[in-house]
Amino acid sequence: MIPVKTKHVIIPIFIPHKGCPFDCIFCNQKSISGQIEDISENKMREVIEAHISTLSKGAFVEIGFYGGSFTGIEKELQIRYLQIANEYIQKGFVQGVRLSTRPDYITPSILEYLKAYHVNTIELGVQSMDEEVLRMSCRGHSVQDVIRSSGLIHGAGIRLGIQTMIGLPGDNREKSIETAKSVILLKPEILRIYPTLVVKNTFLEKLYHEGKYSPLSLEEAVDLCAELLEMYEASQINVIRVGLQATDNISEGRDIVAGPFHPAFRQLVQSRLVLKTIEEIIQKKGLENSEGIAIYTDLGNISDVVGQKRVNIETLKRKYHFKTVKIIENKDRKMQIFVEKTN
Ligand code: SF4
Repeated sequence: MIPVKTKHVIIPIFIPHKGCPFDCIFCNQKSISGQIEDISENKMREVIEAHISTLSKGAFVEIGFYGGSFTGIEKELQIRYLQIANEYIQKGFVQGVRLSTRPDYITPSILEYLKAYHVNTIELGVQSMDEEVLRMSCRGHSVQDVIRSSGLIHGAGIRLGIQTMIGLPGDNREKSIETAKSVILLKPEILRIYPTLVVKNTFLEKLYHEGKYSPLSLEEAVDLCAELLEMYEASQINVIRVGLQATDNISEGRDIVAGPFHPAFRQLVQSRLVLKTIEEIIQKKGLENSEGIAIYTDLGNISDVVGQKRVNIETLKRKYHFKTVKIIENKDRKMQIFVEKTN
């Protein structure tokens, strides 16, 4: 367990496409991980030590193996990578290991050695809990694999992470919401939501150019993610990422051909959620016909209240014909929003 209030740092080690014989329709791991070559042991040590040299005292540090299906790599290599990570655990620089893998690559015997090498978090690439979406995305595993592996991970006392996607072929808003409901039942500790992007050199790119696949618009993706984020947060699930990280390779016009990419996607989603809260208060207090409103919130929340390019303020003015929408800092009431009418 990560101590409360401790800074949590993950040292990411990308293992692009390692161990994965599958070709999911959306995936080009080599683009996503931002590197083409397999990582050598020396490079791995270099990455770890470069991170360690910048760490502040008292941080909870994990080495994270991402980018492929770790437990699909030949076992000897998995053990080699884990041994290197464990050297830094023994020296006291690192407290644990986390990794991502496929739901069908988890068995009791795999979990046994992962635990022995201090793997304390496993993130499963679940993507959807709808069989048709899994099939159309060529995932090669079933919903049952997800349920089985999640149970095994919990049973081994390892933290469960789940990665989901929206906007896959065959998916729609209702299926994404049903997926979230099913995922909540699996009780993951951490969760990621990725809107599907059309990445170069994937089968999805081919379908897109043939007019057989249309990605979600940015507006659709933000709106749906806001609803999903609200569901997960209401279930006390820590959503650690919404949207891909903008790296050099993952930016529009380079590896992304189409799709709802935005460098500050999560902020768009959080800001949409805040707008929803403000509108609920307006309706509850019957402020729809006021001349104007004042929104009280703490400093840390102001940018989400205003929204990028003042989108929330403009939306409220347009929708309710408010002449003024004032934002007032409220130092006493942290992370809460109060709305009052103004004359
Ligand atoms: S299982 Fe993961 S790494 Fe393999 S093709 Fe699918 S998304 Fe890519």
